[in-house]
Amino acid sequence: MNKFDYMEKHGYEQMVYFYDKTTGLKGITCIHDTTLGPALGGTRILNYASEEDAVLDCLRLARGMTYKSAAAGLNLGGGKTVLIGDPNVVKNEAYFRALGRFIQSLNGRYITAEDVNTNTKDMDFVAMETDHVVGLESKSGNPSPITALGAYHGIRAAIKFAFGDDDVTKRTFAVQGAGQTGYYLINFLVENKAKKIYFSEINPKHVERMQKEHPEVEFVKPENFFECDVDVICPCALGAVLNDETIPKIKAKVIAGTANNVLLDEDRHGNMIKEKGILYAPDFVINAGGVINVFNELGTYNRDKVQRDVEKIYDRLIDIFTIAKEDNIHTQEAAKRFAKMRMETIGRVRSNYVPR
Ligand code: NAD
Repeated sequence: MNKFDYMEKHGYEQMVYFYDKTTGLKGITCIHDTTLGPALGGTRILNYASEEDAVLDCLRLARGMTYKSAAAGLNLGGGKTVLIGDPNVVKNEAYFRALGRFIQSLNGRYITAEDVNTNTKDMDFVAMETDHVVGLESKSGNPSPITALGAYHGIRAAIKFAFGDDDVTKRTFAVQGAGQTGYYLINFLVENKAKKIYFSEINPKHVERMQKEHPEVEFVKPENFFECDVDVICPCALGAVLNDETIPKIKAKVIAGTANNVLLDEDRHGNMIKEKGILYAPDFVINAGGVINVFNELGTYNRDKVQRDVEKIYDRLIDIFTIAKEDNIHTQEAAKRFAKMRMETIGRVRSNYVPR
């Protein structure tokens, strides 16, 4: 891969390699676009098969963050950090403090947070060396309940658009995955008296927890999940689950959940879903609760304000569904247009010089 060609094609601003000789920390930070504000994106640790895989993952994820924050109405750009290594081996205080020092050297152009194989406690170590980290154990804490709350509001918007009203008591749901976000989403659906809820899981502990806390929520075998005869399916487990094999089986009229990158191929599967007359809530819009939550750490963190901000996912999705309908395009495409429109409009407003 020619990295500069790739950066030029997709409008990247910066890619930084770093290595710390005391801890062996090896990583890459990509800044995709800072039109709206500093680039924000989590740090993930993976034992990548090759450096090329790590670079591609970092570039792709940074770009995704630009659209996610733009569509969420945040004054943030998109960035990401990937660290190459076995998370069971490399993680310790010194390692994360070394990371913090590199992040500080970017002088606030990039803000990090937790992601795959890192957590809020790790970010507390990062914060000992940099001001440019959010999602701290001591501040906003675990983002999953807020992500699930955002998804709950997004689900209400989707059923309003698909069925004419947003009353969950009339609707049936199947949730794939009862982990961090799926568990809380099911709780919101139960609290709000959804007509019927099914769930599927592969982790016996999570199945047991759900059956103990909510015996009325019915277990479905993972292999039968997509055939569930319900109004709404909620992917809250894995990426790439909407594909050539699963889409033909779907009976639901709405797909809306917390999982990232659920369309195996955005255009092909976005269109397949549209052609089946199913309404799909774009993943990066409906699951933006986590980034809205950490963004609020940049000011004075207030949980009530975060909950109000997250509720706006409802109106945002209605706008996106309307664009998709009017322009006859799939909803993932409409969500990207929505994000790009905001970047263009705000970018133009900021093109004049105003001293502050
Ligand atoms: P998690 O690992 O806590 O939960 C996922 C659950 O899915 C696990 O319990 C797992 O056992 C189950 N699972 C895995 N494969 C399955 C299968 N084939 N069928 C049924 N269940 C299966 O993860 P999470 O934090 O809830 O995240 C879920 C998705 O949401 C991911 O795609 C993640 O990127 C996305 N997301 C999470 C957040 C957040 O705040 N946690 C924010 C934005 C997006």
